[in-house]
Amino acid sequence: MERLKIQREAEEFVDELVSIKGHGFLQKERDLISKAYVVASKAHEGMIRFSGEPFINHPKEVARILASLGMDAVTITAGLLHDVVEDSEGKVTLDDIIKIFGREIARIVDGVTKVSSINPPVGMSDMKRKIETIQKMFLAMAEDMRVIFVKLADRLHNMRTIQYVRDEGKKRYKALETLEIYAPIAHKLGIHSIKSELEDLAFKVLYPEEYYMLKRLVAEKKKEREARTKEYMDILKAALEEHGIEAKIEGRYKHYYSIWRKMKERGKRFEEIFDLIAVRAIVKDVPTCYSVLGIVHSIWPPLPGRIKDYIAAPKSNGYKSLHTTVITQYGEPLEIQIRDERMHVEAEYGLIAHWIYKEKPDLKSAQEWFERLLEWRKEISQGIVGIDDIKKELQMDEVFVFTPKGEIKHLPKGATPIDFAYTIHTEIGHHFAGAKVNGKMVPIDYQLQNGDVVEIIVNRNSPGPSLDWLKYAKSPRTKAKIRRFFKEKFGGELVERGKDILRKISKKLGKSLEEILEIDGLKRMREGLSDREFFMKIGEGTITFQDLLEAITGEKTQTKRKRRRKISTSSSPVVVGNLKNIEVHIAKCCNPIMGDPIVGVVSRRGITIHRINCKNLKGIDEDRIFDAQWVTDVVGSFDAFLRIVVVKKSDIGNLINHIGDHGVDFVSAKILTPNREPTVVRVHVKVRDTEELSILMSNLKNHKCVMSVERVVG
Ligand code: MN
Repeated sequence: MERLKIQREAEEFVDELVSIKGHGFLQKERDLISKAYVVASKAHEGMIRFSGEPFINHPKEVARILASLGMDAVTITAGLLHDVVEDSEGKVTLDDIIKIFGREIARIVDGVTKVSSINPPVGMSDMKRKIETIQKMFLAMAEDMRVIFVKLADRLHNMRTIQYVRDEGKKRYKALETLEIYAPIAHKLGIHSIKSELEDLAFKVLYPEEYYMLKRLVAEKKKEREARTKEYMDILKAALEEHGIEAKIEGRYKHYYSIWRKMKERGKRFEEIFDLIAVRAIVKDVPTCYSVLGIVHSIWPPLPGRIKDYIAAPKSNGYKSLHTTVITQYGEPLEIQIRDERMHVEAEYGLIAHWIYKEKPDLKSAQEWFERLLEWRKEISQGIVGIDDIKKELQMDEVFVFTPKGEIKHLPKGATPIDFAYTIHTEIGHHFAGAKVNGKMVPIDYQLQNGDVVEIIVNRNSPGPSLDWLKYAKSPRTKAKIRRFFKEKFGGELVERGKDILRKISKKLGKSLEEILEIDGLKRMREGLSDREFFMKIGEGTITFQDLLEAITGEKTQTKRKRRRKISTSSSPVVVGNLKNIEVHIAKCCNPIMGDPIVGVVSRRGITIHRINCKNLKGIDEDRIFDAQWVTDVVGSFDAFLRIVVVKKSDIGNLINHIGDHGVDFVSAKILTPNREPTVVRVHVKVRDTEELSILMSNLKNHKCVMSVERVVG
């Protein structure tokens, strides 16, 4: 009885999808979808959403969105099943899906599950979560694009119902992730309809005041604007009819988020944003597009420089159309877009259009984008570029240029030959020696223009990039690659130092380095880092001894809390063995500071405190070396030395000011390479502890004139 009821519901649901999609399914496709409906209904039985609705409404809604995008039966089926493995309390497994629906659908469901099931351990920073999200998306995407379509539909419905999520932090996080990751991906795939809706939904959560203000402002003049839009459309329609051109004319309103972005980017008030509306003409073929452009310009004069031919040179996401901005009879600028049917479908649905037209997604520009995605994925996983670099690049305007072989490459607007060289290959970039554009040599800071043919001249014997290049590179990815080169060049010492520190700790614990690295806490700490990066972070002090200790013992050492409580200036900052309040000297050979792993060396002069990795410990009799710990509630001031590489000698003044800005006592600076740029300086500062030092170091590293920072001994 119950079974019959679900079966009937399933049939009705398939009929509903057919009416949304606009055309029917084959019988076997109908069977597939209704089977998925039955499986999903049973799997989610009894479960409810935040909104209080039955859970099954969510996969149903996802299926509706996919149908409205014209997706095929396989994708819709996967959409219905997308939460079944994850959210059915074990009732349905991936193996079950394989058995019932076959491998293709199971693979999509599995891909979606992988992308969704990101529950990083508590304490992992947001940034790391984001990296994981993107990495998993990229991985999943490489296997099957349809994973991403399902995931976007899933996210769209979750954002449409975000008001039911009670946890404010979670809500904001989801919105931010939507704005920074999902919307740009929808944009890059050319799925305009999803992109703008995601943006507005996220905008509403993140900036409610601005959202409602804009909504009100847009509503205020709505009548007037609609009347004008209609007038423009009528004029255009009449003119085209006169020329015997059949066209579908549409008025289009900018969505809230894009208005807001424009206001922010250009520092304008709402009243100053004029292009809130656009008029679009959809015609039968490409030649007609150009005829329409001519007719438009005979009605209204075009604004110079605003005619864009995206038919001859499509955008990197495959977008094609003619754009022109004209001055209307009311003196206001109006954007007009002209395209044919096919371009229109592609503009709204992007890559999905290829499924609609039952083609493989082999559009050249889309292909290029995929290749870039794969490349980025590789670069992220190798730690060459960071997620922020990719994020920035996703949002930049672009230019397109050609290789001498005629391959098209898209680069951020303002890109130089350096960026182009690094886009071809990192090694080509590193050995860049010059460039020809359209057959002529150009200076290194030449800004590439649409359509340029760029040829890179390579010097195989060059030792590598020059620091100046950072000034000329536009793409965040290029800069990351150049920085990476220098980091590697100077990074060897840091790696060794980090290894040393860990080795000493492991020796104290009576374990080998390998054993220590297998401790759960350390494994968690190393997640997403290569060994080299991990040791480097220890070596440079980004991961402190305290962090390591906490990770190894699983306990919070109570350094930070009480630190500011000053007991007595005469108290010793160190406990040696069990001895408190003994007088100690701080060794000048290794300059330990609070937080460093230390030992005490007993001599006739008293006890001297050394860092655990101090070279001078080597010859000393084991009997004279004692365990030592910092007394963390004693405030001290310790000498620390930094070796800093700055881009130019003249940057040193800036550097010193910058240190002062951090409330750290600057003692002295010595220029080690007075005749060279980049210039190496040794800076002496006084700090409270390793935490203060590592904050200072990471701040310095982010300073634009600083190439590298490392801690050295006096
Ligand atoms: Mn879901």
